[in-house]
Amino acid sequence: MIQPVDLLLPKLDLVKQSSPGKWRAKCPIHQDRNSRSRTLVITETDTGSVLIHCHAGCNFEEILSAVGLDASDLFPTDSYIQHTKHATKTQKNLRSIIERSRFAATLIEIGTRQVLRGEELSTDDLNTLAGAASDLQELLDV
Ligand SMILES: [Zn+2]
Repeated sequence: MIQPVDLLLPKLDLVKQSSPGKWRAKCPIHQDRNSRSRTLVITETDTGSVLIHCHAGCNFEEILSAVGLDASDLFPTDSYIQHTKHATKTQKNLRSIIERSRFAATLIEIGTRQVLRGEELSTDDLNTLAGAASDLQELLDV
């Protein structure tokens, strides 16, 4: 069975695995043709769902539509879809919001721990934290 991450990664450029279940890639939205940096963070959760975050703060739905995917493509079909075959669009959106909030919370937690350990955060890290915080704010406004 095809996992969401196997569906997404071939559609992205400059994909590089950074750790188990974590990849970085070029953002299909804001990076130009010649850019070689990887601002997109792709994370596979233990449920098989995939989370995407762009350091530059690109919109999650826009990134997905740029690669021709739908938010529901980021969830594994076996456990999730079978249980929610009759789920309404609202329920699916809710699931997406929960997963994204969890992702933002994880990013913030990691950043906070780094600060607690006395580690210096790079501008990239700080931008990620700020982005995650505003993502959370936005998600909770729904
Ligand atoms: Zn971007």
